[in-house]
Amino acid sequence: MKKILAIAAATLIAASALVGCSGKSDSGKPGAEGKKTIKVGVALYKFDDTFISTVRKAIEEEAAAIKGKDGVEISLNFTDGQGQQASQNDQIDTFITQKYDVLAVNMVDRTAASVIIDKAKQAGIPVVFFNREPVKEDMAKWEKLFYVGAKAEESGSMQGQMIADYWKKTPDADKNKDGKIQYVMLEGEPGHQDAILRTQFSIKALDESGIKTEKLAGDTGNWQRSQGQEKMSAWLSSFGDKIEVVFANNDDMALGAIEALKGAGYYTGSKYIPVVGVDATAPALDSLKDNKLYGTVLNDAKNQGKSILNIAYALAKNEDATKAVEGVTEGKYKWVPYQPVTKENADKMK
Ligand code: BGC
Ligand code: CA
Repeated sequence: MKKILAIAAATLIAASALVGCSGKSDSGKPGAEGKKTIKVGVALYKFDDTFISTVRKAIEEEAAAIKGKDGVEISLNFTDGQGQQASQNDQIDTFITQKYDVLAVNMVDRTAASVIIDKAKQAGIPVVFFNREPVKEDMAKWEKLFYVGAKAEESGSMQGQMIADYWKKTPDADKNKDGKIQYVMLEGEPGHQDAILRTQFSIKALDESGIKTEKLAGDTGNWQRSQGQEKMSAWLSSFGDKIEVVFANNDDMALGAIEALKGAGYYTGSKYIPVVGVDATAPALDSLKDNKLYGTVLNDAKNQGKSILNIAYALAKNEDATKAVEGVTEGKYKWVPYQPVTKENADKMK
């Protein structure tokens, strides 16, 4: 009996020592008997981003769902990086000092993850990155690093296929009858994996379906509607009716381009050119139904948010996140599939 007690005491001491250096709060293993609140620090690259706001909402909804199901309180603290990596680093330092259980990080600069990883690892606080993908070498630095996102190539290919379909079924689409698509490309933030790959794979899909293309212009609109509108207005002034298709790396910029087209007299009579975006945000779906936006690709914020929070929840409970959440590959990546959206299936997107 004495021996058992001694062993139990020794285990307790060892366990509390472990807790002490793992950065977990004193109340013990979160989500288990002792502790009822799990603290998740969610660092967003900036609040003012339409798509990221929908991911935030999905994370909040999932926290409420977990509370309903397991009775566990997940306290979420969102910080606004305002597009400044230095500010985001400070916000993450605070989460670490305050001994948060897990971090969910939407990097401002995805190439700057290693500083954050080193600090989190030192403090024993797992990190779930999302939407802005750290490079492979950084992701390999620790086993408690995860990434939730979508394969950008996929969204680009889907945009290209939508335009290929349109081109084949619309004889008038080739305005100058030269057998080629004259297009403009509104790109997302430079360096963002989604900007690079959507730009590339949309055109690749056209090449692969045997359609010739000619790029009239391309420039970054930094994911923003206002910049999409500005760039498109300028292109309309230089190229006018020569533009046959508008590709935008996201819906906000596509909607900006549509504003510019409206200003140039499009959508009245038969004056029309197709604009495609990515995300399937609520205003984009409205625009589809209104015969303005031609197509978009669902960037599934709901399932991304769900995965982010469930991986974080498993990590906070010290569980194997690759078992707790379905479809995690390479021990750390959760890829949420995209889906093409045109007027025909827009209603199903809600
Ligand atoms: C979305 C953009 C968003 C960006 C933010 C992309 O996946 O398509 O709308 O601005 O992520 O990082
Ligand atoms: Ca043409």
